[in-house]
Amino acid sequence: MTDIELQLEKQRADLLERIGSVGDLRRGSITATSGKCGKPTCHCAKPGSPGHGPNYRLTRKVRGKTVTETFPSPAALEKAQREVAEFHHFQDLCEQAVVVSELLCAARPVEATLPQQEKKQRKRSGGKSNAK
Ligand SMILES: [Zn+2]
Repeated sequence: MTDIELQLEKQRADLLERIGSVGDLRRGSITATSGKCGKPTCHCAKPGSPGHGPNYRLTRKVRGKTVTETFPSPAALEKAQREVAEFHHFQDLCEQAVVVSELLCAARPVEATLPQQEKKQRKRSGGKSNAK
């Protein structure tokens, strides 16, 4: 085992540990909408009104369809923001773990994978491990 392999294995183990400790997460993106609704009777139609909002909503794709969710309270919005942020954190860690693992694959000599294959073969022949 080379130093590079050891280093990369440690990095990967660290990342996997961090992935294992992520909290509640959810997909989607939260956007703010604001402005005037266009109804002439609405308060937002009065001169000088800043309009509605900002109103926050979460959108995400489910089987190609966009699903929209609104939040009943600022606390619900904050909770969702934390959950979405956690997902991005999770994605980031996964991406890093894959990159490190790819480097590790490249660093592994082909011979390093051979002993495992031999073990499997020995197991398959069952009991007669000394006979060949
Ligand atoms: Zn309005």
